[in-house]
Amino acid sequence: MVFENTIEFATNMDEKDPLHAFQKKFFIPPFQDGKSIYFCGNSLGLQSISAGETVKKTLDEWAQLGIEGFFDGDENWANLPERIALQLSAIVGAFPEEVMVANALTVNLHLLMTSFYQPTPERFKILIEGGAFPSDQYAVDSQVKWHGYLPEEAVIEIFPEGGKKLIDENQIKAAINQHADSLALVLIGGVNYFTGQVFNLHKIARWTHEVGAIFGVDLAHSIGNIPLTLHDWDVDFAVWCHYKYLNGGPGAPGGYFVHQNHHQKSFKRLEGWWGNNASNRFLMRRNFTPAEGAAAWQLSTPSAISLAPLLASLTIFEEAGMHKIREKSILLTGYLRFLLEQMPNFQQKFQIITPSNTEETGAQLSIYIKENGGELFEYLTKHGVILDWREDNLNPDSIGSGVIRIAPNPLYNSFTEIFRFSKILSKWHS
Ligand SMILES: *Cc1c(COP(=O)(O)O)cnc(C)c1O
Repeated sequence: MVFENTIEFATNMDEKDPLHAFQKKFFIPPFQDGKSIYFCGNSLGLQSISAGETVKKTLDEWAQLGIEGFFDGDENWANLPERIALQLSAIVGAFPEEVMVANALTVNLHLLMTSFYQPTPERFKILIEGGAFPSDQYAVDSQVKWHGYLPEEAVIEIFPEGGKKLIDENQIKAAINQHADSLALVLIGGVNYFTGQVFNLHKIARWTHEVGAIFGVDLAHSIGNIPLTLHDWDVDFAVWCHYKYLNGGPGAPGGYFVHQNHHQKSFKRLEGWWGNNASNRFLMRRNFTPAEGAAAWQLSTPSAISLAPLLASLTIFEEAGMHKIREKSILLTGYLRFLLEQMPNFQQKFQIITPSNTEETGAQLSIYIKENGGELFEYLTKHGVILDWREDNLNPDSIGSGVIRIAPNPLYNSFTEIFRFSKILSKWHS
């Protein structure tokens, strides 16, 4: 695609965009007399118009049916998690029995590590990417300590080398091989939350399995953003949240994946009645009989009300199709990169740290700024642009340096918004 730096080009792209009308399915936060430019769907996806209707429908069922809401009809609350898992399995590339919705991301990470991280004095190390999302770091450290090991010895972190901002995949391969005999688990964010770098999960799964370790992934920034085929890639387990690209609402219940290869194994697992086989769950028997596949890791009664906005959003995803979403995303983010690089003096003030090739990029561009980052963030907010600013934790001495994360969302952002944003940004300190 040859892009042009004109409003006519952007308007034309919107007219040709098969997903353009989807913007109307969402509430866009207002700004002055119009609407803000919302580039923060990687932190909190916007509310769909149908979310409220779906919540209302659930409330009505509760009012009309009481307890019978759990059992009445095909769309009852008791089988809601299975229905949602079926829709999710298409988005993550899995069999329905490999996927479940329950709890929240960090809770599910702990539950699955309880089963998949069984350290021995020989194999006890966990490899993660340096600068992983804090919750993942805390989860890993506390799991290691729970088993009586020291994070300093058991947690291997891979940081970018040679002044670079990105981790080279070959570094991960080298570290896996270096710790081959002592490695229990590799845990990677499918898309790094800070840099936007997309990792090749298929390759890393292979390298991990070659040394006999388990491969777990955090898909918080991947699901609904990039195409996934977890089953074929041989990922052992995965966790994610639904409030980022999936627009499930603040604190929406999370999701997880357990590969079919593990379904027949007997596991050390923390168990609750909702993980019991659904056919005899309500017989209240003394012994736990696990549900088939990922469902066995459920603990508690699902919240029909909390799941309603996710249900609404999944219908939108089905309608749009992940293939079209990704196609538009590549163009939208590509257009953003093109316009940024055309800005006079861009290189003096900024550096795009997200990889430039399509396979390693999702919807997010992370832009490193050497100084006045906080001031830029305030300027953009004042001009109706909602995005995200993070100080550079790896360089705490360089004040005002950090990253702005811009995540154009193919479901509710347009090419003209990208164009308008580039004009706003180019007027800063010009
Ligand atoms: C957003 C995010 C989380 C959030 O975890 P919760 O348990 O949902 O609060 C965890 N890990 C990563 C990588 C994230 O991006």
